Amino acid sequence: KFLELKTRLAEIQDLNKAAGLLGWDQRTLMPARGAGVRAEMLATLGKLAHEKFTSDEIGRLLEDLRPYEESLDYDSDEASLIRVARRDYQKSLRVPSSLRADISRLSAQASEVWIQARKKSDFASFLPYLQRHVELKHKYIECFDEADNVYDILLDDYERGMTTAEVTGLFETLKKDLVPLIAAIAESPKTVDDACLHGHFPAETQKAFSLDILKRFGFSDDAWRLDPTVHPFASSIATGDIRITTRYYEDFINAALFGSMHECGHGLYENGVSSSLERTLLCRGASLGLHESQSRMWENLVGRSRAFWTFFYPRLVSAFPAQFGAVDPETFYRAINKVHPSLIRVEADEATYNLHIILRFELEQEIINGKLALRDLPEAWNARMKSYLGIDVPDDAHGVLQDIHWSSGMMGYFPTYSLGNIISVQIWERVKSEVPDLEQQFARGEFKTLREWLRERLHRHGRKFSPRETLQRVTGQPGGI
Ligand code: ZN
Repeated sequence: KFLELKTRLAEIQDLNKAAGLLGWDQRTLMPARGAGVRAEMLATLGKLAHEKFTSDEIGRLLEDLRPYEESLDYDSDEASLIRVARRDYQKSLRVPSSLRADISRLSAQASEVWIQARKKSDFASFLPYLQRHVELKHKYIECFDEADNVYDILLDDYERGMTTAEVTGLFETLKKDLVPLIAAIAESPKTVDDACLHGHFPAETQKAFSLDILKRFGFSDDAWRLDPTVHPFASSIATGDIRITTRYYEDFINAALFGSMHECGHGLYENGVSSSLERTLLCRGASLGLHESQSRMWENLVGRSRAFWTFFYPRLVSAFPAQFGAVDPETFYRAINKVHPSLIRVEADEATYNLHIILRFELEQEIINGKLALRDLPEAWNARMKSYLGIDVPDDAHGVLQDIHWSSGMMGYFPTYSLGNIISVQIWERVKSEVPDLEQQFARGEFKTLREWLRERLHRHGRKFSPRETLQRVTGQPGGI
């Protein structure tokens, strides 16, 4: 019966991964006119996978396998597969397919409307779609048992087991120190000159330089691809088929440079999942927060460190001699670590980024709990930008309309970005205590020890354990984040 379950789940995983590959193609190679039919193909695959997964046969097998599961070691692949499949199954059954279809149809429509609304900075045209999304969110919430806070139910889709109260506690701690720190930086007469990052950087040279870095991180030609796209992402078709994407601005080097390190971090997580979990629903990261901890670690804790640039700066100078030949390493190091309050989340530096997230987390709760009328959302957004980052929002395109998430019905997603930042540092402290010469290794261009440590302690487990259990295994400490 276990083999039967495993075979059925493998077929479902095949459908989902085929959809993933179509999605990757859609965002990298597909000609624009393929969009209509592609959406239908993806809907068909999604429907087939959902029907197969919520079938009575799967339910019966999961029930029949209870004694077998109890006879197994909790940590075994087999027990973990039954346990996690049962949880996913129970969750899937609660939401009627008609509601799922309504949500995905609305997301497709609202995303189109959002693109135009953002272009014209016209919140009013987007408002009815957002209203409808919030109505459907309430219907979605009603499918589940009552929670302490209804927002918990939304959060659970992205960060299993995390509660609103826990996130609030973490974010209050961050806010208490970050708001005055950022105000002090903004008022400081000392300025950081980052002019060297702007100039002319041919895309081909940027790609070659990025690959030089990524290959030292663990990218290999026989298991990875790097392709250009508009909105960068990482996608895993199999542990030996990792697709990462980036975008090249020829007048600004940061986007591709740090963006590709970020996506490589996501890719290394997927690449490091144990091959014994291939073609199962355990073959991916444990949660969005843990996933983001990996991308942020390689991007920020590795990629913006002095030790890293001790090795790579001379190579950067030889790749772009006209740009960096006369720039000393310290100027460059300060430039890539500049803190500057700004309007757009995806362009924010490490220090201000979390405040962009906290603002969204607070507003989402007020919306879901009915404390904020949606028509007042732009005003609430702008007021909070002023109080957290000290800046005025000129229009809704640079404010409340900037992110795609709400148009796709994703509420409860934003906090995982900041959880990722926090987790990355938590893991980092652990690695550094066990590998004291980590930075000396970076200065020699060596990253294997870090990568293998992460693989052994985190990546190989995939989604076998809850995010909290997973983090406890990585840090060796109880208590989660
Ligand atoms: Zn990411």
